[in-house]
Amino acid sequence: MQTKLVILDRDGTINQDSDDYVKSAAEWLPLPGALEAIARLNHAGWRVVVASNQSGLGRGLFDVAALNDMHTKMHKLLAAVGGRVDAVFYCPHSPEETCNCRKPLPGLFEQIGERYGMDLHGVPAVGDSLRDLQAAAAVGCAPHLVHTGKGEKLKGQLLSSDFPQGTLAHDDLGAFVDWLLAQPESSVKTNKAGAHA
Ligand SMILES: [Mg+2]
Ligand SMILES: [Zn+2]
Repeated sequence: MQTKLVILDRDGTINQDSDDYVKSAAEWLPLPGALEAIARLNHAGWRVVVASNQSGLGRGLFDVAALNDMHTKMHKLLAAVGGRVDAVFYCPHSPEETCNCRKPLPGLFEQIGERYGMDLHGVPAVGDSLRDLQAAAAVGCAPHLVHTGKGEKLKGQLLSSDFPQGTLAHDDLGAFVDWLLAQPESSVKTNKAGAHA
């Protein structure tokens, strides 16, 4: 069984980010073209999972029921355009809780690797902020920055040396998917369970 897997950040990558946190399903608003981009990945045989810091939980800004409502909305809107996210992995902790799953730490990615029985080396991971890509690179994922959300202000700039080596930048999730689907199949990461590529 080979798995083509893409790991996506949520806020600022799939949906609009907010400095006040996305706290409810009503505030969960997809970015233009993002859901369609996920559907295109799925149709090309890619499984998509989300890895998301949700410190709003730890900060008491919303509860797990509200988070579930946001994801129910995401799944419904995705289904309406023929797309699917397999699973949402999230860090519920506040920064003070010193967990291992809050990006830039790699805990969420490690959970994903365990769930899929995969070495994540070379698996594309997309995010709008430095810490997403640091977490991704820590487990060997291929880091991709989108210029939406927090990444919008980096548009047209050279990436600082803080970014993992080999980070590629794209205008948005749709542009990332254009890029990925244009890669020759042979260069695409497929991974037998537990095997190194
Ligand atoms: Mg983000
Ligand atoms: Zn955590």
